[in-house]
Amino acid sequence: MSENEAADRPAAVDFRNVTKVYGAGTAREYTAIANVSFTIPDVLDHGEISSFLGPSGCGKSTVLRLVAGLEPQHPPTSGTVMTLGREVCGPAADRGMVFQDYTSFDNRTVLDNVAFGLECRGVPRRQREAEGREWIAKVGLDPRRDAGKYPHELSGGMRQRVAIARTLILRPRIILMDEPFGALDPATRLDMQDLLVRLWREVQATVLFVTHSVEEAVYLGDRVFVMATTPGRIAGEVRMPPAAAPARETQSEPWFHEQVHQLQERIEQIEATAHHPQGSHHPQGAPPSTGGATR
Ligand code: ADP
Repeated sequence: MSENEAADRPAAVDFRNVTKVYGAGTAREYTAIANVSFTIPDVLDHGEISSFLGPSGCGKSTVLRLVAGLEPQHPPTSGTVMTLGREVCGPAADRGMVFQDYTSFDNRTVLDNVAFGLECRGVPRRQREAEGREWIAKVGLDPRRDAGKYPHELSGGMRQRVAIARTLILRPRIILMDEPFGALDPATRLDMQDLLVRLWREVQATVLFVTHSVEEAVYLGDRVFVMATTPGRIAGEVRMPPAAAPARETQSEPWFHEQVHQLQERIEQIEATAHHPQGSHHPQGAPPSTGGATR
């Protein structure tokens, strides 16, 4: 389906002049994002992956958590956050989030972690365990060997597979991923990128993916929102070719290096012109990496 056809339906995510001020009216008042507007179309039977790339502190997590409806980011100080045609008024089942930190329950097995959301929905044990095992397999774990393990018995990559299964089992239309692969070693990170693309093709959801890595943003993103800081804002939006081949293969292709190079130049321009007011209590964050972790 083309983007034009998608235009007939409400956007998956629509930010209109969204500003978030933390600690408003206190000495620590800080404008995290100012007048952020962007639209991600709801491409039916496909979905899109949008990468959010920018230095630490530019408001990437704030944007994601506003979409999720999580406090204290939600509600915005001004402006409107819409998902699928409705104003966000809190967390809901149509939006699922995967964080960088491993967020599984330590005292639950892999299976019970993966099936947790279904349990909350009152799905009977037999059914939720069957679905849980399916999802354990889908994220590349072994249902027989791994289902009964506890989080402390898993590697970082395995834990993130559990986190992804826990979120996707609920079939959210919008998947919010906040640097989910940031703590993983380079090889595992590439495997996880491939896994994400595979699962995304299956669930056909809209994915918002926050990353520091230019390579990761280029590989995963159908579009990349480049953010700048002080105050946090969208400084540019760049369309990308879809991820057609596995990450390792793609990352050795000349066009990929060219895209990374162009995006890196764009980011450098943005940083060179970034405005840093005197007296801001907030230190300038580190620039996005050129993707050391994904090389
Ligand atoms: P990023 O994800 O790009 O690193 P964040 O959205 O986490 O950025 O944060 C944007 C800015 O808002 C940062 O300066 C951060 O310190 C500040 N900030 C984030 N959350 C809070 C909060 N709950 N209270 C006060 N300031 C916050």
